[in-house]
Amino acid sequence: MVQAMPTVVYNIPVHLVPAYRGREVLVRSQDPAALVQALPDGDLAQLVGVQLLSLTADVDVLADWGYGVPVDLVMYSPDSEFPLLYRHAKLLDKHPVRVSIPALPGLFKAVKVASALRFPVKLEVGQPEPATIEALQSVLDFYLHHPSVSQPVEFFHTSLLSFYNQAPVPLWDVQEEDPAYVRYVTDDGRETIARRPVGLRATGDLGCFVAALQQELLAERGECYECEFFEHCGGYFKWPRKDYACSGVKTLFSILRDASVALRHDLNTWTAARKGTGQ
Ligand code: SF4
Repeated sequence: MVQAMPTVVYNIPVHLVPAYRGREVLVRSQDPAALVQALPDGDLAQLVGVQLLSLTADVDVLADWGYGVPVDLVMYSPDSEFPLLYRHAKLLDKHPVRVSIPALPGLFKAVKVASALRFPVKLEVGQPEPATIEALQSVLDFYLHHPSVSQPVEFFHTSLLSFYNQAPVPLWDVQEEDPAYVRYVTDDGRETIARRPVGLRATGDLGCFVAALQQELLAERGECYECEFFEHCGGYFKWPRKDYACSGVKTLFSILRDASVALRHDLNTWTAARKGTGQ
């Protein structure tokens, strides 16, 4: 049987829209007007979403754009940009909107504001240093336990579900960074991995990039070889620096795993209680 080729989504700058016509695209720009102009009515069949690279641009044009197109608001400096999220709340009336927040100073504050505004969040974690791990732990605690959180905070949300369902989803997929499925096309038209900070380049065959890295990591018998979270992570934190020490990120995975166990226990208790009362 012939296996279907996986569909690749290309994250392209807005000026490359004509060159990528007919392929699935995520189109990025600093200028909302440029997005609307480049993607007129009838040209949206292959549009997966748009990425807005500036939070200071005039968003009214997107708010009036009546397509229900997924919008990814890309933050660069959580510490200074978090107040700018308020002016984007109106986009939710027309589009599904997500905020991508890098693990930098101000992370927790930005997540709390995004969450209060009911934006789903994607954390861009990279290879976090110990101080950042602390901030991520605060965010994780907030996501797991704060009653006001109603929207997913990724990667925590999908990882928690994958522990709960015992159906691991590697972080490469959760973070939309496996270049077999998602490719970042640079402003000068070169395809690479979709991980910020921009400038990192994956080399070799992008279709096999993750599989090849995993093979290397396991063959080297390093930290990944014995890692209990390999199925949920997939060696994600060993790129680009293979010598990155994972004790901090393993703590995050442990908290997620324990939370999934607690969730299952609570659900079982609740189900048993319901049966007991005949409800
Ligand atoms: S947490 Fe670290 S050691 Fe474990 S699988 Fe991921 S990258 Fe490898």
